[in-house]
Amino acid sequence: MARKSDSLEATRAARILEILSPLWPEAKPLLDYRSNFELLCAVVLSAQCTDDQVNRTTPALFAAWPDARHLARAAVEEVEAVIHSVGFYRTKARHLVEASALMVRDWKGEVPDTMEGLLGLPGVGRKTANLVLSACFGQPGIIVDTHVMRVILRLGLASQADPGLIEKRIAALVPPYRWTRFSHAVNRHGKFVCKARSPACVAQEEDCPLYGLCPRAGLGPKKRA
Ligand code: SF4
Repeated sequence: MARKSDSLEATRAARILEILSPLWPEAKPLLDYRSNFELLCAVVLSAQCTDDQVNRTTPALFAAWPDARHLARAAVEEVEAVIHSVGFYRTKARHLVEASALMVRDWKGEVPDTMEGLLGLPGVGRKTANLVLSACFGQPGIIVDTHVMRVILRLGLASQADPGLIEKRIAALVPPYRWTRFSHAVNRHGKFVCKARSPACVAQEEDCPLYGLCPRAGLGPKKRA
């Protein structure tokens, strides 16, 4: 049974989405892609790397290897040379080739449409799987990336910097049909407003539309009550 505090927090989460949704109406990835395969590859590359850097890198990758059947046959060293500008490129190149080989072997060269299938691919964790399931297959997805985790903690909706726990917390507070929209809106808020080193409220509280709902956990007391 839900605790009373959970129902208050669910109300706060709903209000947060109500405020952010019109500000960030596009509930989709910021990564460039034209197919499920391209999105999967882009998300794998985006770990510890900015979306902009990935978007600068993927055109050459997809020009050389447009789908899983092609990439499964690539030499890892050749893929490394094309994606060397993203962090951890050696590991990511290996993951991309191995994941492509598994998709060819087990999924007829297609991106799996289940959480279990996606998690069976090298380099794919729950964040990637939820992003792919929501963007490619229209399934509700809670996408806990570094921006979402930081904002959720500052908002006091969770207290531990653990993506798995934060995913469960959002699942408890937000109805499934809003998971994807909530994830993307909070991601944009974290990326552009509640930034890691310079959250908007530090310079001027009015610059953050969530100021009245936010305890600013980890940032110190508010300037005024
Ligand atoms: S008030 Fe500050 S800490 Fe809270 S969401 Fe806004 S920018 Fe982030």
